[in-house]
Amino acid sequence: MTDIKSMTRDEITDALVDMGEAAFRGKQVFSWLHSGVRSFDEMSNLSKPLRAKLAERFEITAPTVARKQASKLDGTIKYLWELNDGNCIETVLMSYHHGNTVCVSSQVGCRMGCKFCASTIAGKVRDLRPSEILDQVLFTQLDSGMEISNIVLMGIGEPMDNLDNVLRFLELVNSPDGLNIGMRHISLSTCGVVPGIDRLAGLGLQLTLSVSLHAPDSATRSRIMPVNNAYDVEELFAACHRYFQKTGRRISFEYAMIDGVNDSDAQADLLAQKIHGMPGHVNLIPLNDVVESEFKPSRRVAAFQKRLESHGITATVRRSLGGDIDASCGQLRRKAMEGRDGT
Ligand code: SAH
Repeated sequence: MTDIKSMTRDEITDALVDMGEAAFRGKQVFSWLHSGVRSFDEMSNLSKPLRAKLAERFEITAPTVARKQASKLDGTIKYLWELNDGNCIETVLMSYHHGNTVCVSSQVGCRMGCKFCASTIAGKVRDLRPSEILDQVLFTQLDSGMEISNIVLMGIGEPMDNLDNVLRFLELVNSPDGLNIGMRHISLSTCGVVPGIDRLAGLGLQLTLSVSLHAPDSATRSRIMPVNNAYDVEELFAACHRYFQKTGRRISFEYAMIDGVNDSDAQADLLAQKIHGMPGHVNLIPLNDVVESEFKPSRRVAAFQKRLESHGITATVRRSLGGDIDASCGQLRRKAMEGRDGT
């Protein structure tokens, strides 16, 4: 069966025309799918025979809530969704003054192996389809009743390791007949897969690229991020400079502060030097303590930020949300997999 929600409006229209239907049905079906229907029977402006024909050929992905945790501290909601094949993924909904942001997963698990990250411990199971990435936005909005204005691809998985599906998801979520979320309201985060950065640069999309840097020197970065053995710090920064040249978009560098590993003044100095020449922004993240990890949160976040600012680099400290609900990526899924949450 074909996954109809991964198809564009034009593809759906072509398929319907091939079935002998009028072209305007394409837009109707597309709109229904993007309103979050779970079956063709809900498409009330289609004839019953057409609904039956569609159900024979196409499947509609629709996840169910496997777990849901709401933070009492700040209203952050974390969903564990069960997909059609029984796999589970996480989505986090965060409220800020400027609107509601949803953090979506791009893969079931991850194969990048970052040493401080819970999402990668059990490896990658499979890529998510475009529809399954979109469903996280759709069904989080439906379940919570909160309108989503921003999307960050910062959940479980490496978007550049599933780039075809991620690009199609972007096209779908951006569609005026669907959720119509503008590229400037979307961020894509990568651990530093250089060919992916170059491919994205070539498309000239107006989204924000976040690069999970976490260290300005290859010795430290290779210690915590195996991807650095494939594309080292020098290659990564060269790609970031190319990206800025092509798109004119400021890059956001993610930097999780790890005690005694990447939090020295010398590393702040080197980081400032590397960013020089492009309008980069550094987002300092207090490390989330992952039980399985040997790495602990740094106590030098404010000092590191000051040091960067003394070099003229803008650096913000990410507000930690959902501290009481395992809201950092991969932690809820791992708990559910191991039965550590008592289920
Ligand atoms: N694979 C992509 C997107 C998913 S990870 C990437 O690497 O960017 C989203 C962000 O969370 C990344 O910046 C990642 O490095 C960071 N992260 C992972 N584990 C963390 C932890 N324990 N504490 C703080 N940030 C973490």
